Amino acid sequence: MAARAEALAQLRAACDAARSWDVVVIGGGATGLGCAVDAASRGYSTLLLEAHDFAKGTSSRATKLIHGGVRYLAQGNLSLVREALAERAVLLDNAPHLVRPLRFVVPSFRWHQMPMLGAGLGFYDLLAGRHSLGHSRLLGRSATLAALPGVREQGLHGGIAYWDAQFDDAALALALAGTVADLGSLALNYCAVEGLRKDGGQVVGVDARDGLAGDVLSIRARAVINATGVWADTVRSLDQPGRRALIRPSQGVHLVVDGDFLAGDNALLVPETDDGRVLFVIPWYGKLVIGTTDTPRDDLPLEPRALESEIDFILDTAGRYLARPPRREDVRSVFAGLRPLVGGDGGGRTASLSREHRVDVSDSGLVTITGGKWTTYRRMAIDAVDLAAARAGLPRRPSATLRRRLHGWGSGDARLDLARSQPVPDDDAVLRAVGETQAATVEDVLARRYRTLFLDAALAAAEAPRVARVMAAALGRNAAWVDAQVAEFEATAKGYRVSAGSAGVGL
Ligand SMILES: Cc1cc2nc3c(=O)[nH]c(=O)nc-3n(C[C@H](O)[C@H](O)[C@H](O)COP(=O)(O)OP(=O)(O)OC[C@H]3O[C@@H](n4cnc5c(N)ncnc54)[C@H](O)[C@@H]3O)c2cc1C
Repeated sequence: MAARAEALAQLRAACDAARSWDVVVIGGGATGLGCAVDAASRGYSTLLLEAHDFAKGTSSRATKLIHGGVRYLAQGNLSLVREALAERAVLLDNAPHLVRPLRFVVPSFRWHQMPMLGAGLGFYDLLAGRHSLGHSRLLGRSATLAALPGVREQGLHGGIAYWDAQFDDAALALALAGTVADLGSLALNYCAVEGLRKDGGQVVGVDARDGLAGDVLSIRARAVINATGVWADTVRSLDQPGRRALIRPSQGVHLVVDGDFLAGDNALLVPETDDGRVLFVIPWYGKLVIGTTDTPRDDLPLEPRALESEIDFILDTAGRYLARPPRREDVRSVFAGLRPLVGGDGGGRTASLSREHRVDVSDSGLVTITGGKWTTYRRMAIDAVDLAAARAGLPRRPSATLRRRLHGWGSGDARLDLARSQPVPDDDAVLRAVGETQAATVEDVLARRYRTLFLDAALAAAEAPRVARVMAAALGRNAAWVDAQVAEFEATAKGYRVSAGSAGVGL
């Protein structure tokens, strides 16, 4: 990927030449980036437009698991689990620099839990088949204590170990954007689609605003895919105002604490929380990510904030499983994301809504893809591009992503070693982020090129002035830009901090 200015110049040149793209994808999260890679891999000229930064939405706020989903197994959704386990294997092959196998241990404090959990996870192994990363095993009390240094000892009977995989969600998104470029297509951030261009009632392009210069670009396209996550209904209403909403957003919150609350290399799974879900305590870049929650929300903020009750719930639940329960003052960062769940007919709890995806085509030919999860982004993309290409009359070509190595494969980038602390970006790293990955703001660097904001919000805020100065020099910006960037980042970082007394917001 190039610097943003170069990518924008490429787009402007295409607009000036009145060039029509085969496929325009709206939205630069997991779903949109997956669609763009898929379309480009088929040889279609492809343009992806992201209103903010790549993965600024839900796709940088996941639990960071590439998993079949033990919870979906419990719900009996076997086809989703099987598909996700197959995709896990594909990702481990195509992005080993971003995804790694991780052993999970379910500690058991009740005897009657063990046989049930053992049978369930044995079945998980069976579904994984040749994609299995290792067999699940029953552990005695001392083996469980050895696997989870820091787990509560009192009342512990034993545990069960099983294998899944974890990743860096923002890094995978950027690797997909890089892969789009490697395939000769274009992905551009800070470019929001504000209108759909139509001819004879059919979508023939989009109007998009360059979020930095402010002008509107008219872009021609044969197929347009709406992959805007929880914002998909907003884009659908550009096509046809007043359509029934597809999405029911549900908020999930994670807390990040120091790694020594649960030392060792294994993740801990709480098999049943008070609200009937599961809770993960996962080692990630030397810290622990603990979550998540499932809270229905009606609004769609770009920076959703954790509710007080969600923070309390996570601390309380994790505290029952750890010898040293984390307190509010131990939280280094709190982040929230909105699941783009495909809604039912209103009512009901979002925890029971499908994580499966849905592809929808409107009378005007706008293809909308919603739902799903990070793990299955590649399968989702195949479905969306198949439909979009057929609807637009593009030559039929198969997806070529099954064995497509993602950008950065084999690079051995130390920044992406999930098992170790991630360094704060030094000046050279900031310059590379600007020059090679379209980073345009301090937040792009400290939240998604590096995960400093997610790992330690106070540290990220302290680094912001230096990062802003280095970026300003590279981008030709003045002191006022530096001040504005620092102020904006500090305001954002405040939302990732939990104060000792209270934090988060009430809805
Ligand atoms: C708390 C939580 C935990 C999760 N954990 C996991 C997990 O561990 N594993 C897993 O597999 N999945 C997980 N998921 C699910 C997964 O993160 C999501 O399914 C996925 O990230 C959704 O991606 P998306 O591209 O559809 O949406 P988004 O990432 O939100 O992307 C949509 C993008 O569209 C852009 N956009 C909106 N409007 C416009 C416009 N007009 N023009 C241009 N761009 C626009 C937005 O800026 C945004 O970047 C989790 C989800 C949540 C909320």
